[in-house]
Amino acid sequence: MPIHWLGSAQGARMLTFYLLDLRKVNVTTTRFWERAPAVRREAGAAERVVVGERPTHAERAVQAGPHSERLLAIENVSLEYRSRERIVRATQDVSFDVYGADRFVLLGPSGCGKSTLLKAIAGFIEPVSGSISLAGEPVRGPGADRVVVFQEFDQLPPWKTVAENVAFPLRAARKLSRAEARERALHYLDKVGLTAFADAYPHTLSGGMKQRVAIARALAMQPRVLLMDEPFAALDALTRRKMQEELLRLWDDARFTLLFVTHSIEEALVVGNRILLLSPHPGRVRAEVNSHAYSHASMGGVDFRESVARIHRLLFDTDTEANHEAGKEASR
Ligand code: ADP
Ligand code: MG
Repeated sequence: MPIHWLGSAQGARMLTFYLLDLRKVNVTTTRFWERAPAVRREAGAAERVVVGERPTHAERAVQAGPHSERLLAIENVSLEYRSRERIVRATQDVSFDVYGADRFVLLGPSGCGKSTLLKAIAGFIEPVSGSISLAGEPVRGPGADRVVVFQEFDQLPPWKTVAENVAFPLRAARKLSRAEARERALHYLDKVGLTAFADAYPHTLSGGMKQRVAIARALAMQPRVLLMDEPFAALDALTRRKMQEELLRLWDDARFTLLFVTHSIEEALVVGNRILLLSPHPGRVRAEVNSHAYSHASMGGVDFRESVARIHRLLFDTDTEANHEAGKEASR
């Protein structure tokens, strides 16, 4: 979905907003599946398969450090786009939990509803059924505790310098003073290696550098959950790998909670510690995979390649029996 810039001049200053294009989204509270329980059972027949050893809560606490309580709870979430002509069901009965310091990946083919799920968690779309809660509180709209980094390179207002871009939401949402906001902006720009470009304008940066600015801006907000929607998909392969490594280094440093969307199986295995596999349109949960054992170093190895093949089967094999077998095989 495109991001639209809405700009308006007010006095000498420009007030800027950028919003998701929600004009086509007609949120509804009709609980379609409640009226058709038989269809629900049939349509939701895909079994949930947990592949790989699932860390116990205690193990997760050791891996993640002291902040590993359940942060996000997504329960039976169905999402739809409604227009006068038709209804598009984007996801159906999707459930998962994200714990503190997880690097949780939503993986599935294009059109399976990953972005829609992320938008719902960000609070831009309301589920037609099911619930989303953050730290025990229902999500009722957008908030500074959830920040999204998108794929597009045009997330940065072009009339602001790099540092101003990072500082702006800190001033607006976190209510920091100009000096405090700049200080924090420079701190996070340093983390992504862009100190030298603090006073540059976005059009002078490469795509990868613009994404670094977007990541610095998001981290500077210190959200409870960082939401990333295919943030590296438009980058060349080498830059993409570098950005993945950098993101993992940043995570090592700050142990933030990440919800990362991708359609690349390899990227999911490298970036995530847990992966939720979603079926093609409309997205339903196919399986959950534990992937904390993988890193860039494991890419190309036999084990890694086998995991890619298994995940591919789990994603695209529509026969649930075969899927179940694939799940059992993968967990050996
Ligand atoms: P993904 O991010 O996994 O590629 P999306 O969440 O973007 O998938 O889309 C899920 C489904 O919802 C797709 O079938 C897509 O065509 C549809 N969709 C996405 N945005 C809109 C919209 N604004 N209006 C109507 N349908 C939409
Ligand atoms: Mg998408």
